[in-house]
Amino acid sequence: SPGLYIVATPIGNLGDITRRAVEVLQQVEAVACEDTRVTGKLLHHLGFKTRLMRYDDHAGEGDRERLLALMAEHPVALVSDAGTPLISDPGYRLVREARARGIAVTSLPGPNAAVVGLTLSGLPNDRFLFAGFLPNKAKAREDVLDELSRVPATLIFYETAPRLEAALGAIAAVLPGREVAVGRELTKKFEECRTGTPEDLIAHFTLHPPKGEIVLMIAPPGETPVDAIDVEALLRAELA
Ligand code: SAM
Repeated sequence: SPGLYIVATPIGNLGDITRRAVEVLQQVEAVACEDTRVTGKLLHHLGFKTRLMRYDDHAGEGDRERLLALMAEHPVALVSDAGTPLISDPGYRLVREARARGIAVTSLPGPNAAVVGLTLSGLPNDRFLFAGFLPNKAKAREDVLDELSRVPATLIFYETAPRLEAALGAIAAVLPGREVAVGRELTKKFEECRTGTPEDLIAHFTLHPPKGEIVLMIAPPGETPVDAIDVEALLRAELA
């Protein structure tokens, strides 16, 4: 039936597409996507020739209007290059406007890098705060970390390999003693999730420059830092 279908797609492993996503991508009138080449490849892999329309939230009103008019009459899917649409990806304005017009909106759950990273990290997950990408500029980056320093939750950020070292340096300076986790290339062949102090991780990634996509996570304040756990164990062994 007509409406907007928000469809999550894999973040690296094509096996992670859901059966419902496959069905909807085949049946919709059009698929709105960030990059027609990226989504074209996915549809080709699935063997479908569904019509593609480029969309992002900075698109002109005209483009959005055309999509909204289409989804009032037909089913239309929204996907992003990878993972769940709207999460550090386009779609917010489209969903808001579709809802305002009484167009049916359905969301098909699937992969999301933040959740995959959190579940792998071993960091507390009873509360977490996803904060998207840290700013590029040093001062703005430190201000954001400072603003979030007292939030009693694991903090989750999206990062890129070239900026990882600067981000870890800022964490060491603004949030000293916190345990940090770096999830890299999640669901892909070279997936890894490394934890330690920011200093440990800087030392590691200086020797092994990171490649690929990264989720950066920071333990809440007051969690026993990794170093302290080791010290406690050593003391107990010493006293026994
Ligand atoms: N909407 C996507 C989602 O649901 O995860 C996120 C899109 S955002 C533009 C892209 C960022 O997500 C990357 O820079 C990286 O931080 C993170 N990311 C995406 N895929 C990843 C993966 N396979 N491993 C680690 N991080 C990933």
